[in-house]
Amino acid sequence: MLSKRAHALKPSPTLAISAKEKALKAQGVDIAGFGAGEPDFDTPAHIKEAAIKAINEGFTKYTPVSGIDPLKDAIIEKFKRDNGLEYKREEIIVSCGGKHSLYNLFQALFDEGDEVLIPSPFWVSYPPMVELAGAKPVIIETEEADDYQITEKLLKKHITKHTKAIILNYPSNPVGSVFTLKNLEAIGKMAIEKGFYIISDEIYEKLIYDEYVHTSIASIDKAIKERTIICHGVSKTYSMTGWRIGFTAGPKEIIGAMSNIQSQSTSNPTSISQKAAIAALNGPQESIAMMLEQFKKRRDFLVSGFRSIEGVTCYNPKGAFYVFPNFKKVLGRRYIEKTIDTSAALTTLLLEEFHTAVVPGIEFGKEGYLRLSYATSMEVIEKGLERIKKAISALE
Ligand code: PMP
Ligand code: GLU
Repeated sequence: MLSKRAHALKPSPTLAISAKEKALKAQGVDIAGFGAGEPDFDTPAHIKEAAIKAINEGFTKYTPVSGIDPLKDAIIEKFKRDNGLEYKREEIIVSCGGKHSLYNLFQALFDEGDEVLIPSPFWVSYPPMVELAGAKPVIIETEEADDYQITEKLLKKHITKHTKAIILNYPSNPVGSVFTLKNLEAIGKMAIEKGFYIISDEIYEKLIYDEYVHTSIASIDKAIKERTIICHGVSKTYSMTGWRIGFTAGPKEIIGAMSNIQSQSTSNPTSISQKAAIAALNGPQESIAMMLEQFKKRRDFLVSGFRSIEGVTCYNPKGAFYVFPNFKKVLGRRYIEKTIDTSAALTTLLLEEFHTAVVPGIEFGKEGYLRLSYATSMEVIEKGLERIKKAISALE
């Protein structure tokens, strides 16, 4: 008999779609896959070489639970260089991926009865991870028409005496929105006033387009920094999804508690991957600009492609590598005998009849939308967009 916890838990929908996509491909089906957000570029050579060197030198044993000092120093340097933030080693922990950083943080911070504010649309794993820690997700609806911003007024409506934290993600998955400095300041001010924490998921920091610049909320002032925990990682920036390295920066008591949780569960993140992450953070950064240039071309192509479909609108992402087109006007139409009335039904239709894998918007908290990752080749993007256009025109 399974635990209640396990019973209530469903698998990550992004990873589930991507597994389906891979299984169909293995059967020889020509799938256009826009499932999980995983850069299609190879991990840069100097990073792979650092890992090979680590293996050859026998750096293959346990390391300190919270990560090796040279990696913590590289992370400290990154925060200083990119965000003007100062951290000490005891304020940094390295975990087995950004997801693991968030999981450990939630376990360290949340109790039964705590409320955690999550702006919607949200990344699929935030609510289940909050619930696994016994706390209650409180969803704040943000809208495309408002540039997906959280204003002071909107925030005030959701704060109670049980509010323990807010989870911010900018640039965001799934829409690629970024908060304005004014709104970040308002959130920071409110966190201090009401005494809740800010969990700032900045994993897409480097993937930002056009005139936008990333400002970490912790860099606004010292009092906000004291209430902020930054979760980050190397997966997206350096195309290192399989290496499983995430990191967290925040107050030392919280980092210490995360380290205890980690010491009783996974122990240290992989020794070899830690060496690779040092090379990623300290080494040449040109690969980011190269990826960004490709992502931008793909974004422009997809956004204009979706905007050309009758009944579909599409927010222009400011960062990350996802588009979140709005199909609300299309839902309710019929495909042969079937009414396509939800984002899940549209996703099934696209996968089964048009061999195109996307994630339904509802998994991100918004019905009527689809999420597509454009961390895939232009060839797949062109093919997939054609198929989606065909599917929509086949609806009556
Ligand atoms: N946060 C967000 C918003 C994400 O989209 C992801 C994607 N996987 C993660 C955290 C975690 O990434 P990873 O575990 O691969 O480091
Ligand atoms: N974060 C990526 C996504 O949203 C990877 C899969 C996952 O971990 O959710 O697709």
